[in-house]
Amino acid sequence: MKVKPAANILSANDAIASDNRRLFRENGVFVINLMSSPGAGKTTLLEETIARLSGSIKIAVIEGDVATSADALRIEKTGVPAVQINTGNLCHLDAGMVRSALSEFDIKSLDMLIVENVGNLVCPAEFNVGEDCKAMLLSAAEGDDKPLKYPLMFHESSALVINKTDLIPHTNFSLEKARRDALSINPKLAVFPLSCRTGEGLEDWCGWLADRIGENRCLRG
Ligand code: MG
Ligand code: ZN
Repeated sequence: MKVKPAANILSANDAIASDNRRLFRENGVFVINLMSSPGAGKTTLLEETIARLSGSIKIAVIEGDVATSADALRIEKTGVPAVQINTGNLCHLDAGMVRSALSEFDIKSLDMLIVENVGNLVCPAEFNVGEDCKAMLLSAAEGDDKPLKYPLMFHESSALVINKTDLIPHTNFSLEKARRDALSINPKLAVFPLSCRTGEGLEDWCGWLADRIGENRCLRG
């Protein structure tokens, strides 16, 4: 069952998201909201991304989970600051939760803040947190039917990462179908098939992120 958030809840969230966005702009930090189902590999993708980018780009991470600090601890091991938000029984992060975590960081020193949303293919796409863009992570193990079944996630995202491509030979997953269906929902999606396990494809994804951060620096001086 899906309970649609009331319009006033969404507009209250959008007001806080606008405040967050203003703060991010003032401080020149590029913010990405990473969404996926549980187990697609968001935290692993972040570990691999940080390993490749953190030499030249100052990164911080907000981790959203229903319970535990396990993912923030994994990120901290990479040397990047991380704050864990536990949502209790809530299945998404909202703008207020992100705002409450920001005081833990030296925002001005950051180039990129990555918000790892709660694993869920439905409502994270409905709650803006003030991000510059959303990215969607789909793993080959989940099946290639997800773009058509959960179109909002794909519609709202700027990038689609397709993880666990090393598993494709052991599944019925069609990379072409997933890509075609996702692009039919959002023709502007940048699609990055990759495997965090083998490292294949990670360079393209990290290059795309580095380009976005570069553009952000130019825009904001
Ligand atoms: Mg995680
Ligand atoms: Zn939710």
